[in-house]
Amino acid sequence: MTVRKILTEPDPILRQKSQPVDKVDDLTRKLMDDMLETMYLAPGIGLAAIQIGVPKRIIVLDISKDPEKKEPMYFVNPVIVSTSKNNITYEEGCLSVPGQFAEIDRPDRCHVKYLDYNGNYKEFKSEGLLATCIQHEIDHLEGILFIDYLSNLKKSMIIKKLSKQKKELERIVV
Ligand code: ZN
Repeated sequence: MTVRKILTEPDPILRQKSQPVDKVDDLTRKLMDDMLETMYLAPGIGLAAIQIGVPKRIIVLDISKDPEKKEPMYFVNPVIVSTSKNNITYEEGCLSVPGQFAEIDRPDRCHVKYLDYNGNYKEFKSEGLLATCIQHEIDHLEGILFIDYLSNLKKSMIIKKLSKQKKELERIVV
């Protein structure tokens, strides 16, 4: 498994729409293994392939709190079939929006269909934190970040801050 670099906002690649995976083969599984490794190290509880610069419709998640008991979940070509009318609010962050958090409302349940690690068709009904994570990650596949749900003012402040941090990080004196 290889740890990959996580892209951060502002990066135009994060705004790309990801393409469906034709076949879940060994290369797809290798990519999912790398994504999981990268996510655990970050650390985070979800990652979409586009966050490591691969525009494919793949997400990985692990919301188990116990590092001894890993419960990885893999979703290839996930599609939301339905969501509840009731919303739930979580303070969300994102590995591609480092150090920034905001309260976001999303439906508290979502029913998703997808292909699993072995390419088998699956359906899954999630609620609470897991439902929020799935929706957050599926947004990535459309080029959407959680900051897009904030007011323009708040969003532009965050992007400005991140751009400044990036410039400082890249500045080197040799
Ligand atoms: Zn994210």
